[in-house]
Amino acid sequence: MRPKKYNSEEERKAAAAERRQNARQQETADQRAERLQRDAEAKRLHLDSETAEQRAVRHLRYAETYRIRIDNDTAEQHAARLQRDAEAKRLKLDSETADQRAARHLRNAETYRSRIDNETAEQHAARLQRDAEAHRRFRRPTMQTNAIDLANIDEKKIIEFYCGQMNERCEFCNSLNFMGERPPDKKFTACCHKDKIDLPEQDYPEYLETLMNGVDHNSKNLMENIRSYNSSLAFASMGANIATPPGYGPYCFRIHDQIYHRTGTLHPVEEQPPKFAQLYILDTAEATRKRLSIPENHGCDENLLNKLAELLANINNFAMSYKMLRDVEKEAIQEANNNGTELPNIVMAIKNDRTQDVRRYNKPTASEVAVVFQNDDGEPPFIRDILIHLKPIENQPMLKRISILDPNLDALVYPLFYPRAEQGWTTYLKQKPGSSQRLSQMQYYSYLLSVRDKFNPLLNGEN
Ligand SMILES: [Zn+2]
Repeated sequence: MRPKKYNSEEERKAAAAERRQNARQQETADQRAERLQRDAEAKRLHLDSETAEQRAVRHLRYAETYRIRIDNDTAEQHAARLQRDAEAKRLKLDSETADQRAARHLRNAETYRSRIDNETAEQHAARLQRDAEAHRRFRRPTMQTNAIDLANIDEKKIIEFYCGQMNERCEFCNSLNFMGERPPDKKFTACCHKDKIDLPEQDYPEYLETLMNGVDHNSKNLMENIRSYNSSLAFASMGANIATPPGYGPYCFRIHDQIYHRTGTLHPVEEQPPKFAQLYILDTAEATRKRLSIPENHGCDENLLNKLAELLANINNFAMSYKMLRDVEKEAIQEANNNGTELPNIVMAIKNDRTQDVRRYNKPTASEVAVVFQNDDGEPPFIRDILIHLKPIENQPMLKRISILDPNLDALVYPLFYPRAEQGWTTYLKQKPGSSQRLSQMQYYSYLLSVRDKFNPLLNGEN
């Protein structure tokens, strides 16, 4: 058959579509099933291989197409669409797994967070009012009941539940589990999901391990003040409304509303003392003195705090990155003074995806985890990175919230657990090398928190 000639690209596409339609009408049920499966597989592969940026672009494109379509809806189409959407949503919610639900809640929380971060004063006031009204309407009159019941519990009447000894090994990842947790097929899911999950081992510094194991002469002081040590060495702050319940119950760390984490600029604002990452550009001894001057850190040992800060200055990629930012700034100031020019715009981006190609930046200075770059026109191209400016920018909040989906979050907030600034969970991780299955946040932390023979700072460092 001779290739046919077409007068336009549209004509060629129309002919191809027609041929495809004819072929589909003739295919058997099996062929159809096979074709659908092939298509689904190709689509899945394509989605798995896309970068975070490509995914964001695709979502934007979808949203745009959808917008255009619904803008042109007739009233009837509109009503039908709403009904279809509601139905589809109900079906999807009904069929989601616990993990998917958890991921969805996280996503929603994130969207909500960024919306309220960007709201105007008017929107803010309107929201508070709406919330207050909703709260009044739905408040249950029996809210106090649980607390009262707990206080009056007769422990003798509680039926004891015994889940056996913790000596059941997972045949795949060697985790230790309680006999009562063992599923009928004897394969454990809470640790490695029956061998589906395999995460790289952490290269934890020996000195910290010795400290946490209780064998160093400073161990006792560290363990008694570990929260203070950690937060005084952290690069980002943690904030939450802590609302201890009234009465004489057991110790309870109750948080009202959400936990949030924030970073600031390289330099403190005006007369404020340097905090968090800002301390890492000072001389270590001076930084230690500043850390100890905060009342919450009075239990910390000066010598130990100094040692820990020095350790982090040498092995922690964030510590090194902040120093790098300071060095770039110093050079730029020198250059600007010599040439009589203005200081260029200098920004550090803590990379979200550490495989990012740094050559795409303009005049970059790069470490493993961050890129400092200077130019006249502002921001680096990766909107999802955490951006560190030298000083607060006009009309922008002084502290910036870090997304809970950012893989650097844990290491920025818990330097004693992630002393080398190891990346933590994020949306695009896979269950093990070579796997195409996404790793859920629940699976990630369950794997890390499982008890195995190897030293685990997350388990040893808890206090
Ligand atoms: Zn396991």
